Amino acid sequence: MKISDIGGEFALIRRLTGVQYNDPAVIKGIGDDCAVLEYTSDRYLLITVDMMVENDHFSLAWHTPYQVGKKLMESNVSDIISMGGTPRWAFISLALRADTKVEFMDDFYRGLYDSAAKHRVELIGGDTTHGRDLVLNLALVGDVDRNLVRLRSHAIPGDFVCVTGTLGKSEAGLRLLRKGIKEGYLKGHLEPLCRLESEGKAIARHAHAMIDVSDGLGSEVGHICEESGTGARIDWEKIPLSKETIEAARTLSDEPQQYALYGGEDFELVFTIPQKNIPALKKEFLDFTVVGEVLPKEDGIYILKEGRALEMKKGYDHFAG
Ligand code: ADP
Ligand code: MG
Repeated sequence: MKISDIGGEFALIRRLTGVQYNDPAVIKGIGDDCAVLEYTSDRYLLITVDMMVENDHFSLAWHTPYQVGKKLMESNVSDIISMGGTPRWAFISLALRADTKVEFMDDFYRGLYDSAAKHRVELIGGDTTHGRDLVLNLALVGDVDRNLVRLRSHAIPGDFVCVTGTLGKSEAGLRLLRKGIKEGYLKGHLEPLCRLESEGKAIARHAHAMIDVSDGLGSEVGHICEESGTGARIDWEKIPLSKETIEAARTLSDEPQQYALYGGEDFELVFTIPQKNIPALKKEFLDFTVVGEVLPKEDGIYILKEGRALEMKKGYDHFAG
């Protein structure tokens, strides 16, 4: 049986793992952006791990080694920020090819350290081994104020669904590159930037549930609904897109909203928030858009486009058939 036969990556994780923990120090295990553990009297510990594989998450024909290092750090920091947390300590594990150049590694580490410095992360260990493909894995530890931790499971029907910044940038860049177009708006794919700790915390002070966008708005809203036991409506016309993403989609005869819904690696934040909290959030943070509403579970998860309900498909899945 292939992984795609059982429904892909998330079905596999569900099949292999349990959700019961014997250790009461586990506040949240599998199923969120980070594991949440007991730490001090007023803070929880957060742990996340994300891997990048050559020709799947990056291509050396397109990315510089500097960009690969930066992307690896940003993708992990994003998971800590999405919990309302503070990123702190990183471990890196590398499988390197025999022909991997030292200069490549120098540049890769420059990218890694530049992003780490921006987010005040310390690299404190790792492992180095040999492999046939480049495999780069980062584990990141952070912490969070107990009152600010924001889980995927905290959405409540009636909450507004919001996203930061604009979506679809990474997919737009990837599609341009795949078509051999090396000019235009590529940065969203080559050098995606996650949100800052201060932004995640500002949102956490007012929001219920939060997740970062690694597999597209469709997938992330699906995760929130699954963990919260709710439905949701996303309004197609409200999905925020940059003019560069719209232009890229026009060049490729695509709908840019499809990039936002089903493309990976934008590293923006999706959160649900009671309508009454929006004015208070706006005093602290403005770069977000209301794109829909959390609904009771029986209403389902769908996209409203020109008055018609469209099915919400899954986002990016490495094992999709
Ligand atoms: P994210 O995209 O936020 O990094 P993922 O979608 O990769 O999160 O993972 C979802 C959840 O599943 C996380 O809690 C993660 O720790 C867990 N997970 C992923 N792969 C495995 C695995 N092979 N075994 C156990 N847990 C896993
Ligand atoms: Mg995540």
